[in-house]
Amino acid sequence: EIIVVGSINMDLVVYVDRHPAPGETLLGSDYWTFPGGKGANQAVAAARAGGLVRMIGCLGRDAFGDQLLEGLAQEQIDTRWVKRVDGPTGVAFIAVNTEGQNSIIVSPGSNYRLLPEDLKPEAFLNTRVVLLQLEIPLATVREATRLGKEAGATVILNAAPAQTLSADVLRNVDLLIVNEFEAGTLLKRKPPRGIEEALDAALQLRGWVSSVVVTLGEKGCVWVDELEHGYLPAFEVKAIDTTAAGDAFVGMLASQLARGTALSMALRWANAAGALATMKKGAQSSLPTQEEVKHFLDV
Ligand code: ADP
Repeated sequence: EIIVVGSINMDLVVYVDRHPAPGETLLGSDYWTFPGGKGANQAVAAARAGGLVRMIGCLGRDAFGDQLLEGLAQEQIDTRWVKRVDGPTGVAFIAVNTEGQNSIIVSPGSNYRLLPEDLKPEAFLNTRVVLLQLEIPLATVREATRLGKEAGATVILNAAPAQTLSADVLRNVDLLIVNEFEAGTLLKRKPPRGIEEALDAALQLRGWVSSVVVTLGEKGCVWVDELEHGYLPAFEVKAIDTTAAGDAFVGMLASQLARGTALSMALRWANAAGALATMKKGAQSSLPTQEEVKHFLDV
C-alpha cells in the first residue's frame, strides 16, 4: 500500500479579463470548484496508476470537506484516517485571466491542523511507500517520515511548494523529488538550468538523501541513486495544460516503486504519466489511469 500524508483542498476558480488592482472590484465568470491540494492530487494519481492508496489529511466539518472526502472515496482511496475539525477546509482562490495566467491565494485551513500526534503508528502498518509534500505543517511531515521509516517503507518527499529544509526533515527520506525551482531553493542557489546543471544539483542533494529525482518539465528528468545516475528525456506530446503534470509524475512513480519496480524503470512510467497529464485541462481531471499509460507506452 501507499500512504499519502498531505493536503486536501478545494480549488475555487474564476475567469477574469484581467487581475484586479488593490481596492478594485471586478466581475468574473461563474466560479468552478475543483478538488485539489498536492497531497490529494498525488493520492488520486497513485490510485489511478493502480496503487492501493491510503490518505492521511485533515478536512473541516463543512460542505467542501464532505465533497472532498466523497471524491477521494470514489477514487478507491482509503479515507479512514482523514481527520475532521471544526473550522474551514483548505481552499485555493484562483483567478485566471484571458492569457491563462493564474493568481492564487491559498488558505490552508484544516490542512495546517494535521498535527504530529494525529499520525497513528497503526495507520502506517503494511505500507511499502509513504509519500509526502510540503502543504501541511513541517513537524507533521517530519513525524510521518519517522513513522514511515519505522514501518520499513520507502519514504518519498516531493519538496513542493519550494522551501528550504533542515537536515532533520530529510534524515528519514529515501527519495527526494523536486523540480528545478525547488532544487535551487533547497540548495540555496539559483535554479539549475539544463540537464547538466540539474544532474549536478541532484548529486549535491544526494548529500542528504540516498536518491534524488529532479523533474525538468518538457525536458524530462534526471535521477541519482546509490549506484547510478541518468537522464530520461520527456515524451514528445502536444501539451495544452501542464497543471498537475508534476503530481501525475510523482503519483505514478510512488505507485511503481510500491510494486517493486526499479527506479530507472519506474521513471519511464512517471514520465509517461506526466506527459499524458499535460494533454488534458485541469488538475485531477487530467491524471491518467494505468490503462492509459500502458496504451501510451505500448506495453
Ligand atoms: P512541476 O509541475 O512540479 O514543475 P515539471 O514541470 O517538471 O513538474 O513536470 C513533471 C514531469 O511531467 C516532467 O518530468 C515530465 O515527465 C512531464 N512533463 C511536464 N511537462 C511536459 C511537457 N511539456 N511534455 C512532456 N512531458 C512533460
